[in-house]
Amino acid sequence: MTTKTCTKCGDDKDRETEFYHNKKTGAVMAQCKACWKAFRKNSWHNNPQTKKTYKEYYGRNKDTINARARELRAQKRTGDE
Ligand SMILES: [Zn+2]
Repeated sequence: MTTKTCTKCGDDKDRETEFYHNKKTGAVMAQCKACWKAFRKNSWHNNPQTKKTYKEYYGRNKDTINARARELRAQKRTGDE
């Protein structure tokens, strides 16, 4: 197994399974999956720009998003029974 050092937590982790790969370029991200997930989570909650961008996106695609959400809810209900 090939390891890679995460630039965020500094741990050596499995390059193949613990890091996200860019499917197009094959490049491996500098941060491990865990750090990237934490970063994404934090940036979503702390960054007003992200929310604003989503709001704009939502405004433009409201119908599609709502339809998709309805679909998902319907699927979930069916799955529960
Ligand atoms: Zn890390």
